[in-house]
Amino acid sequence: MSADSIRRLEKGAPGYEEARRAASWNALLPDRRPEQIVLARDADDVVAAVAYAREAGLTVKARSGGHSWTASGIREGSVLVDLSAMDRVEHTPGAPTAAVEPGVHGRRLNELLAADGLFFPTGHCSTVALGGFLLQGGWGWNSRSVGPACLSVEAVEVVTAAGELIRASREENPDYWWAARGAGPGFFGIVTRFHLRLYERPAAMRRSFYIYPTEVAAEVLHWAHEIGPQLPPELELGLIATTPRGPDGELVEGGAALLVNGHALMADEATARESLELLETCPVLERAQVRATQMPTDFAELYSRSDAMEQEGFRWCADNVWTDAGAEELVPVVEDLVQSVPSALSHVLWYPWHPQRFEDAAISIQGNLYLAAYAGWEDPAEDAAMSAWPRRHMERLAPSANGTALADENLVARPSRFLSPENERRLDTLRQRHDPDGRFLGYLIGDRPVGG
Ligand SMILES: Cc1cc2nc3c(=O)[nH]c(=O)nc-3n(C[C@H](O)[C@H](O)[C@H](O)COP(=O)(O)OP(=O)(O)OC[C@H]3O[C@@H](n4cnc5c(N)ncnc54)[C@H](O)[C@@H]3O)c2cc1C
Repeated sequence: MSADSIRRLEKGAPGYEEARRAASWNALLPDRRPEQIVLARDADDVVAAVAYAREAGLTVKARSGGHSWTASGIREGSVLVDLSAMDRVEHTPGAPTAAVEPGVHGRRLNELLAADGLFFPTGHCSTVALGGFLLQGGWGWNSRSVGPACLSVEAVEVVTAAGELIRASREENPDYWWAARGAGPGFFGIVTRFHLRLYERPAAMRRSFYIYPTEVAAEVLHWAHEIGPQLPPELELGLIATTPRGPDGELVEGGAALLVNGHALMADEATARESLELLETCPVLERAQVRATQMPTDFAELYSRSDAMEQEGFRWCADNVWTDAGAEELVPVVEDLVQSVPSALSHVLWYPWHPQRFEDAAISIQGNLYLAAYAGWEDPAEDAAMSAWPRRHMERLAPSANGTALADENLVARPSRFLSPENERRLDTLRQRHDPDGRFLGYLIGDRPVGG
């Protein structure tokens, strides 16, 4: 495959701006312009794109689904390799594994696996692509139980800085395999295929849902912090401060409220029902304006509920922290966050995590609790004010934080720790070893490329 055979859009050429725009799910598109955009169809195209970049003396960055909140794949002076058309799934019925290309969307993978009674912990929104999702960690459906999705990556096929297509696993090229499990945008290569371990589909899926007025936010948050460690791993609890939507999907008048969402994704009905009973222990239960419990659900519904929360076509800015801090320290700050949600689209997420051992992987930061703020708006005149909201509050939480998740990172505006010091050093060493010329751009920190 030669560089001439790839489909390449030069800066300013017809179709270039559409491809650049399509590379970001977020309508808040950064003012960064790659020199070239390569529309890859397969691994051969990726090999040719890297060879082209080497000859032209350009850096390289990939994009899969374009769901990085900061559009970290769109970079000045680079060849942007667009992998979105690489969306093939290989799965043999009955096999507990699948091979997926980076452009595959989470919902599609789980739809394909349903017939076989299997599932994979994909991102909560249906269109998050597996490429960036898996590389950065992958906090997906039932990850509290089966782990961040990157830990289920058994092997990867990678185009290296030398322009070779290699396979990496625990046994072969382990440096690449280790980094592909959590380094996110700092990965020194382009993954063209992931080999995944699959899981049995939860047979009993139920959800309970409550809406509390924000006046009782402090009581609800204290209670949620107390029950967090008691939650079975297969029960996902998410407290979301936002403007609720009615059954018709329309926003309900009256501003933000505190939504308590419990999703039991379990093997049997009795355990699913019992686990959701925990949500009935909230001391201000009688203040719930909506109390809908023990409803059967399925992945189709779960994806569409998440999609309704984070809608495409709007401008978004997110930020987050992992923390082990106590309620006394956290609740006053989170209460301010809840009371200051700046628009109907914006929301705050309080997500009790089930900490686990991360082995043979770059991923290394977690905590008992995940806190994130997502500002969503439409008017470009509000960019500065809306973008400041998540950052300002996460800055207040930073002294109580273990670090930040690459999933909802905002390193451009708020540099923070996202790997343990040991793994950060190891990643730097591996990058020097495998990409000494810095062909692949790394993290985008403080609006300047770092690493590579
Ligand atoms: C609406 C929404 C919902 C989300 N929900 C979740 C969630 O539930 N859980 C969660 O963990 N995260 C979630 N995220 C975050 C998301 O998983 C990350 O931003 C992830 O990086 C997106 O992957 P992508 O391929 O779509 O992004 P892209 O923007 O295409 O890529 C993100 C970064 O990864 C690099 N990259 C992508 N593919 C490759 C590849 N094949 N090889 C090398 N580098 C690559 C890019 O260069 C870029 O720096 C969500 C994001 C959005 C916008």
